[in-house]
Amino acid sequence: MDLRDRPEDEAFRAEARAWLDAHVVGEFAALGGRGGSGDETFGFETRLEWEKVLAADGWTCIGWPVEYGGRGASVAHQVIFNEEYVKARAPGRVSILGEGLIGPTIIHYGTAEQKARFLPPIVAGEELWCQGYSEPGAGSDLANVQTRGVLDGNEWVVTGQKVWTSLAHQSDWCFVVCRTEPGSVRHRGLSYLLVPMDQPGVEVRPITQLTRTSEFNEVFFDGARTAAANVVGAVGDGWQVALATLAFERGVGLLGHQLSFRRELDHLMAAARANGSASDPVIRQRLARSFGELEILRYNTLRSLSGIEGPVAPPEASIMKLYWASWHRRMGELAIDVMGPAGVVTEGFPYELDEFQRTFLFSRSETIYGGSNEIQKNIIGERVLGLPPEPKGTA
Ligand SMILES: Cc1cc2nc3c(=O)[nH]c(=O)nc-3n(C[C@H](O)[C@H](O)[C@H](O)COP(=O)(O)OP(=O)(O)OC[C@H]3O[C@@H](n4cnc5c(N)ncnc54)[C@H](O)[C@@H]3O)c2cc1C
Repeated sequence: MDLRDRPEDEAFRAEARAWLDAHVVGEFAALGGRGGSGDETFGFETRLEWEKVLAADGWTCIGWPVEYGGRGASVAHQVIFNEEYVKARAPGRVSILGEGLIGPTIIHYGTAEQKARFLPPIVAGEELWCQGYSEPGAGSDLANVQTRGVLDGNEWVVTGQKVWTSLAHQSDWCFVVCRTEPGSVRHRGLSYLLVPMDQPGVEVRPITQLTRTSEFNEVFFDGARTAAANVVGAVGDGWQVALATLAFERGVGLLGHQLSFRRELDHLMAAARANGSASDPVIRQRLARSFGELEILRYNTLRSLSGIEGPVAPPEASIMKLYWASWHRRMGELAIDVMGPAGVVTEGFPYELDEFQRTFLFSRSETIYGGSNEIQKNIIGERVLGLPPEPKGTA
């Protein structure tokens, strides 16, 4: 794979850079690129406004087909946009689940009416989405979903509890995996419903994280209603749609993630130089190793992205998830070691965490969400290496 820009890539890069230079100003520049993973509550209102600025000039959903409001941008151009975005220190995006997960799912599986109803507000940055998969008894074992959906006239009535629902408190809609065939078990009899959040049957209770912010929530559906037509894919076939959404999760968005890793690592190297810890031979080795591993991650991501077509996660996706989540967790630990005693105290009231402390704490969650490290290893063992499947309990 040739990683140099072709002439049309250079032109696209110049266009993206010029737009970002002209628009990441004032209150948007003041955010300093913050508001990403683990920092979602930072500057939310300004970032919501920023989403609309992006949308006004067609810089949201750029990988979507033109007919659905995107630019039909190639993977190479999406990568370039992500690179320039991070370099410009543009605000963390608020509509990642809409643009990256439910939008592509609706494009692939939705009806013409669903496309017309749900895609334009995502492109415009006007409706935000959350993902209602996990439940107290269904995380790694997602097929154990117990939330029920019952058809009542021309509406679904949804009852059950979801948990760890990121950004539910800021979302207008939730894509909910629920059991619509009474008595069905495992992955059969599930459906994929689109449920409005602003209604009496939905209660959102924030969960406080290690970082002391609340980005995820418990969500209680108690007779929540949605139109009968708001089912994506066939009734009872929600498992296939749910897996497709997970496959989209591992796409181009990952690259943006990595570029912010690079910025964090650059900050860490600067901090290590400034406080003298860069002279410590062990810290130096760990920094150099971290840098090398991040380069490996970059090249492997580019390689695997160039092979992704549609809602199918290639086996490499599990290797990449295991690799980046473990890398980032180690980097968080290294950051605290670089900072020494200063790494474990805050400046004073209101005891805000700094960038490195946030990374150290939040990166613990990255080896859990999107499929835990153990689950990724199971997938690699079984589907990549062809090892015997893990023994199943008989309870
Ligand atoms: C920051 C964050 C954001 C999240 N956002 C969302 C969201 O927006 N929407 C949503 O639906 N969910 C979300 N989740 C939930 C996430 O998908 C689950 O936490 C994850 O799937 C693990 O499920 P669990 O927490 O129930 O743990 P469990 O599945 O109970 O796992 C507990 C432990 O057992 C291990 N384990 C489980 N099964 C096996 C096995 N077969 N073999 C080996 N080890 C095993 C796991 O690796 C883990 O270490 C989020 C989680 C986090 C941390």
